[in-house]
Amino acid sequence: MFVSPLPGFETLAGVVLLNTQIPSFVPIRYLYIYIFIKFVPQIIPMLSFNNTEVSFSGKSNNDLNRSYWLFKMVSNSTFVNLGKSLTTFAINTHLPIKGLIKATIFKQFCGGENIEECDKTIKELGKFNVGTILDYSVEGKETEHDFDACMTETMETVAKAKNDKNIPFCVFKVTGLARFDLLEKVSAKYNLSAEEQKEFGRVQLRVNSICKAAHEAGTPVFIDAEESWIQTAIDDLANQMMVLYNVEKPIVYNTYQLYRKDRYAYLRHSFELAQQGNYYLGAKLVRGAYMEKERKRAIEKGYPSPIQDSKENTDRDYDAAILFCTEHIDRIAICAGTHNEHSSMNLANLMNEKTIATSNKHIYFSQLLGMSDHISFNLANAGYNVAKYVPYGPVKEVLPYLIRRAQENTSVKGQTGRELSLIIKEKERRKAAKK
Ligand SMILES: Cc1cc2nc3c(=O)[nH]c(=O)nc-3n(C[C@H](O)[C@H](O)[C@H](O)COP(=O)(O)OP(=O)(O)OC[C@H]3O[C@@H](n4cnc5c(N)ncnc54)[C@H](O)[C@@H]3O)c2cc1C
Repeated sequence: MFVSPLPGFETLAGVVLLNTQIPSFVPIRYLYIYIFIKFVPQIIPMLSFNNTEVSFSGKSNNDLNRSYWLFKMVSNSTFVNLGKSLTTFAINTHLPIKGLIKATIFKQFCGGENIEECDKTIKELGKFNVGTILDYSVEGKETEHDFDACMTETMETVAKAKNDKNIPFCVFKVTGLARFDLLEKVSAKYNLSAEEQKEFGRVQLRVNSICKAAHEAGTPVFIDAEESWIQTAIDDLANQMMVLYNVEKPIVYNTYQLYRKDRYAYLRHSFELAQQGNYYLGAKLVRGAYMEKERKRAIEKGYPSPIQDSKENTDRDYDAAILFCTEHIDRIAICAGTHNEHSSMNLANLMNEKTIATSNKHIYFSQLLGMSDHISFNLANAGYNVAKYVPYGPVKEVLPYLIRRAQENTSVKGQTGRELSLIIKEKERRKAAKK
């Protein structure tokens, strides 16, 4: 018997038979081939990341020009290093450069200085079915007052998300709620002093308050992954929250950094825990952002580096993690946090192969605001679930984040080369379309 190549094909074949002049003696397999060639490209829009018209549909000519000059400038490492020193100096000595930063690099990579200021970005992305994940990007705070303020701010993002269909997730970093050294001690299973135990109790309460609010609002929340030597404390907190809040649906997502040699096994272990505990596993899958720091510390302290020996190994484990999750998608909800075209296409292809609907809420793709719009906008245009991390906070406070984005983009061969070439292609397309 000839097997239908796609679900629903028999029905479609029946409709075509009734409405065309194809004689009934034509073998059914020829009919399937006819339908496949004629109709399927219209049913399933072909996914491509090269369509710059879609990629930059949210950008006016002015926006595109600003991005062009920005990526051109940050591709020069001397400029970036000089810019970093000058900007830090100017901000610290209160020179009036906030306006300049806000109109340039801040505008490219951040949503605003507070939640209200992000509204324009949220709406703009929403027009193209791209969601927003508000990311309060204030770093390096170390007092109890700062941690409480960060918790309150994150809970405000949860309240905002509850009433806005364009905000599918919230996010926080545990280092925004706890002292780094304390997390390191907890991870290393040191004996905490009575004072430290109380301090960690307050951290648990903060994490719980955010996750409880997310559960009540029905808005899932990501817990970002950080340095390996504080990650055990973060993992334990994330697992405790999943036990509490992921019973009916995935609310809390831990983050798995596949650049670590042990994380694929840990992902599988987390799934076993979820099955035993009868809750959903929420998993944000990333490669990992602290590679140099991790390797340097391992050498300094004389332990084997936890990081994969090569990029190929990281890619292999990332693919394996994606495959594993799609095989258990009824009980695992994932977000692929990546700017890698292969990884994004691979996940889309796997969904297609396994006939997982593009709109399945257990699968999201995510990129950072201002980066890889060609991935985000083309995926959203083809019906996949996509959300951008939209960092926000006072200009002075998000400066370290902006400097990291600039530094990450200095290689002309890497990300910037890709961003620039796509921007140039779109500028040329628009020019030609005007003629
Ligand atoms: C939405 C979103 C959320 C994120 N959340 C987190 C988070 O919570 N925690 C976190 O740590 N990061 C996070 N990141 C950053 C992420 O981990 C990566 O650093 C970044 O996205 C680059 O990886 P890539 O998959 O986009 O692409 P690629 O450019 O394909 O990969 C670059 C990455 O590969 C790895 N790599 C590069 N060279 C080597 C090598 N020689 N050996 C081994 N591995 C190598 C590194 O992880 C490097 O960052 C997030 C990114 C996004 C887009």
